[in-house]
Amino acid sequence: MKKRILLLAGGQSGEHEVSLLSARSVLAALPRDQFDVTPVVISKQGRWLPPTETVRALQDGAAPTGGDLVLHRAASAEGYDAVFPLLHGPMGEDGTVQGLLTLAGIPFVGSGVLGSAVSMDKVMTKQVLASVGIAQVAWRLAVRREWQQHPDSVRARAADLGYPLFVKPANLGSSVGISKVGTPAELDGALNLAFGLDRRVILEAMTTHRPREIEVGILGNDAPIASPVGELRFEAEFYDYETKYTEGRATMHIPAPLPPEVAERVRTTALQAFRALDCAGLARVDFFYIEQTGELLLNEVNTMPGFTTTSMYPKLFEAAGLSYSELVTRLVGLALEDR
Ligand code: ADP
Ligand code: MG
Ligand code: MG
Repeated sequence: MKKRILLLAGGQSGEHEVSLLSARSVLAALPRDQFDVTPVVISKQGRWLPPTETVRALQDGAAPTGGDLVLHRAASAEGYDAVFPLLHGPMGEDGTVQGLLTLAGIPFVGSGVLGSAVSMDKVMTKQVLASVGIAQVAWRLAVRREWQQHPDSVRARAADLGYPLFVKPANLGSSVGISKVGTPAELDGALNLAFGLDRRVILEAMTTHRPREIEVGILGNDAPIASPVGELRFEAEFYDYETKYTEGRATMHIPAPLPPEVAERVRTTALQAFRALDCAGLARVDFFYIEQTGELLLNEVNTMPGFTTTSMYPKLFEAAGLSYSELVTRLVGLALEDR
């Protein structure tokens, strides 16, 4: 019997378009002799689009706007053997959709409510990883109400960390809303931008030197494995949205040219983080490696990383001998596994 798979794409976050690209690749790669796949695109307003609109949205790489959020549509997931929630960012990668699917009793690819929610929030991630001794940059949390009522206390937190520093919405991805702040004069603008996108904002000390950006893939549930280690190189000041999604701005190096003991540290630390955060299925764990000091700092954990055929996560496992279509097949298998 073929497995019936519901592939969710799009979604309500700033990473809507990225998700549509990923979904196109996954849809093409799930072997048709094993799976019967139905894509459903979720609009930016949260509307689960009917089949004809879904097909058009996947072709165009953009969904129609308007319409209402339809929560009860999770019921339309009934009858499927598994859901592949290929959604990035808030309202998709953050445990919300995972909660809906858990309530509906349908297995799904990737982390559950806990792992998704904790990994999505950069502050919560840092707290959990600090508790198991994983090295990270210094950071401070600020919430919107404090920024509105006691801006000086938020500014003092930034001064504590020193400049330059990074200001980021705690729950986002694709570098949306992130600023590198060079001087105190630029701080308010960066905070206003980040608070426009999230109630929680993280202030982060910048790494002591320009970091090398190292990424590793994790695959599995309670006995996860790590991929070879990859590196991203680019000219921009930091790995911002444009650099991420403009063809030719960044290059991927797999395996990353690193001393073997550093690559091994990346893999073991990533596995430790995956377990500490209660992730499942897959995650891409991103690090900063400071060549001058030998420091390895964990930056973030992405529980639904970019998933086009040229994205880092599938490329890392391809280097380990797992083709894109074998990888997505394996992910569905992990979703159906008893844990
Ligand atoms: P996202 O989840 O949007 O990818 P990240 O936390 O990974 O957000 O930040 C995006 C990019 O910004 C990183 O890949 C890196 O280039 C740069 N960056 C973020 N935080 C720091 C930091 N503390 N020090 C140096 N560079 C940083
Ligand atoms: Mg991220
Ligand atoms: Mg990142």
